[in-house]
Amino acid sequence: MMEQYHRIKREHPDRILLYRMGDFYETFYEDAVTASRVLGITLTTRGKSEGEPVPLAGVPHHSVNTYIHRLLRAGHSVAICEQMEDPALAKGVVERAVTEVITPGTVAIEEFLPADEASYCLALQPGATGRLGYALGDIASGELIAGEDAATLALGLPARFRVRELIHPEGLEEAPWLRELRALYPELHLTPRRAWDFLASEAESALCRHFGVGRSELLGFRPGEEAIQRAAGALLAYFHELKRSELAHVDRIQFLRAETAMVLDRVTVENLELLRPLRGEDPAATLFGQLNRCRTRMGARLLARWLLAPLLDAGAIEARLDAVAELIDQAALRRELGELLGRAADLERLVGRLGGGQARARDLKALADTLALLPAIRGALDGRASALLAGLAAEIAPLAALGARLAAGLVAEPPARTTEGGVIADGFDPELDRLRALTRDGRQWILDLQEQERARSGIAKLKVGYNRVFGYYLEVGRSQGDKVPADFTLKQTLTDSLRYSTPALKSREEEILSADERRLRREQELFEALRAEAFAEHLALQANARALASLDVLAALAECAERGCFCRPEILGEPRLEIRGGRHPVVEALLAGGGEFIPNDLSLDPEREQIHLLTGPNMGGKSTFLRQTALIVVLAHVGSFVPAAAARVGLTDKIFTRVGASDNLARGQSTFLIEMEETAAILRGLGERSLVLMDEIGRGTSTYDGLSLAWAVLEYLHGPAAGPGLRPRTLFATHYHELTRLEGELPRLRNYHVTVKEWQETVVFLRRVEPGPAERSYGIHVARLAGLPAEVIRRAFQLLHWIEQDQTMARPAPAPGERRAQLELFADGRQAVLRSLAALDLESLTPLEALNALHQLQAQLREASGGAR
Ligand code: ATP
Repeated sequence: MMEQYHRIKREHPDRILLYRMGDFYETFYEDAVTASRVLGITLTTRGKSEGEPVPLAGVPHHSVNTYIHRLLRAGHSVAICEQMEDPALAKGVVERAVTEVITPGTVAIEEFLPADEASYCLALQPGATGRLGYALGDIASGELIAGEDAATLALGLPARFRVRELIHPEGLEEAPWLRELRALYPELHLTPRRAWDFLASEAESALCRHFGVGRSELLGFRPGEEAIQRAAGALLAYFHELKRSELAHVDRIQFLRAETAMVLDRVTVENLELLRPLRGEDPAATLFGQLNRCRTRMGARLLARWLLAPLLDAGAIEARLDAVAELIDQAALRRELGELLGRAADLERLVGRLGGGQARARDLKALADTLALLPAIRGALDGRASALLAGLAAEIAPLAALGARLAAGLVAEPPARTTEGGVIADGFDPELDRLRALTRDGRQWILDLQEQERARSGIAKLKVGYNRVFGYYLEVGRSQGDKVPADFTLKQTLTDSLRYSTPALKSREEEILSADERRLRREQELFEALRAEAFAEHLALQANARALASLDVLAALAECAERGCFCRPEILGEPRLEIRGGRHPVVEALLAGGGEFIPNDLSLDPEREQIHLLTGPNMGGKSTFLRQTALIVVLAHVGSFVPAAAARVGLTDKIFTRVGASDNLARGQSTFLIEMEETAAILRGLGERSLVLMDEIGRGTSTYDGLSLAWAVLEYLHGPAAGPGLRPRTLFATHYHELTRLEGELPRLRNYHVTVKEWQETVVFLRRVEPGPAERSYGIHVARLAGLPAEVIRRAFQLLHWIEQDQTMARPAPAPGERRAQLELFADGRQAVLRSLAALDLESLTPLEALNALHQLQAQLREASGGAR
């Protein structure tokens, strides 16, 4: 057996081999040491090999999934080696083989997958001139996405999609892009693969084999897309090697090309908090979190995909907008769809399990229940005006015959495990009914036997039992042994009891056991047949899954639009952007109950107002304004209504953001270097239809260096004063007030500022964006609000005043001994709150401003008192 073990293990040197032995999966040698450490299971030894005891650690087969999950989480891959024949019938060593390999990026076990997100394995293949071909595969749903991008963009894929594992040609470990990936995503599991698999010829045949086509062109590849093809082929080869099933659910390639989807780089996806918050874990603090009112998990996953690939085709966007508009108007339809979809299964992953041969009885039952909903869903959509809704209805195939077969064939609530029977309904198959009757009769016979033998022997506690090794037996207490009748033959002696058989029991036992066995086998056959019938329809089922998921997302978008008072954006051909009363959907939602979100307007166009230079105090709302603009543009391209009173959105093919300082110490780079790298990427990637958001660039260096850089970047973005040239729409927030004087010099640049009210030395934020430059930054005011000692604040004001003069006067000296003289009532920021309160000029505040001021003061006070309420 150990010979067999070594032979199999040699094929999986880098994986933990789970070797099935009876009711356990065992690990040996190094694997056992690792498994016992990671899983906290006992490490023992068994026999000897070359004089040394063999380390061994095992886990029970029924809970193996839990252990697999823990091994994967610890970054290991697992090879599952099963017994391929019945040990009772085997001659010599039981035949075993690896039936599945699970790696961190190829998990298809439902309970270990994130519900609302797909989980991808990514393959990368370098192409021409610094570009990378990629393929993203989700083995659980069969989704396969492929494309090619400049390396800097492709490196953002793991931030956009939830990538768990990366495969790449071996030997490239030191390639700059791979080093960069390792630094950016330390959690990513890297799997080098034979360079051979990435060869164009090999990839071509892997693709053709998998999809059953003669040439890979037929799958939608275009000339020159060799790197994409190589990545996709290598990924499929990897999946096939691991899974040993047909993977029929991987039935198409979706291409992500620059002309069909908006380009969102890693920094933008992260900064806009589309899917994940920048800080903390609160899922509600993201755009996805606010929009996800989907009733199904496949809907939620599709919504995430829509957000990551906003459309560029005005027709396709309008089609979605029409559908959303109709669902908003038709509240009853939306409710009905919501109710029906709420009962639908996660068809996408269910088809994945069918394709991978792992569908269980409960899956088939859920499939039957979901199919039963389809006529009603189609009916609800009947005669709808929106072409998209009508089209989706037409794509739904109710598969009534399959639904009826499954409904008739399966019991109402199938057990979790399919192998122990109780899955197929009574009355579905006469042969099964007959075998079940035989088993039932047999059981009754045994119960009767117990009564008879009790009477015959006079042993009241005699009972019939069963175990897998000894079969049926009659058990009596040890002390009763002398009372048993003469035809009892002893089978087993235990500490407290004795177990017997009788000739009648023995003869009937075989009959019962064989009926039982035949019943189980028959049931398994019937189940397999049903599963095959369902699998035969996998293409139609997948189409149904896609249609239901789309409906779910459209209904969710309609619901959000209604609840959030969103408006339908007008999509424009020319690159303009006009927003009236725009809001930040996430900041607004999280403010709820605490304060009022102040809506703002914006109008950008390449002819007159190409660049808005936004100044204003710290905490004034500049970043929020920039981000909300980008989110509105993204949402419009997704085909969603937008959080504004009105919006006219010109088609935008790229959004670039440089917002705040995203330090990455793990990469060993300074904040400033990263800031400049990000800026460089923006300036290199600009296009006619780009939208650029720059927040405080040039801050991480000396004032004059930073100012000069920001200035030069602005001029570059603006381009020549007249004549042809790129004119990307730009929002540029800065604290360098010197830049506001550019308004006169650069004809398409306009100054805007976020407003505050100032009393004595305190400020209240009004958060309104208005034309003209801000007078100052109020940095010292904000520092006071943050509770800096009064002495420091006073001195800062003094110095500011001196610096703002031309500094020819003598520098004012600090007041001596002030620190001791200024004993505050509260040493912390509470004093500052009191002063702000005293300084409020209630006469000049509107009620709304007063409420906001109050809210701000309260928040500060709570913060200063350590979060106490
Ligand atoms: P800094 O220059 O210090 O980075 P900022 O001007 O970029 O500051 P933001 O971070 O945008 O300021 O805003 C600060 C806070 O103000 C936000 O977290 C939000 O809670 C609140 N806020 C911003 N805009 C609005 C608004 N329009 N209405 C209500 N509250 C707002």
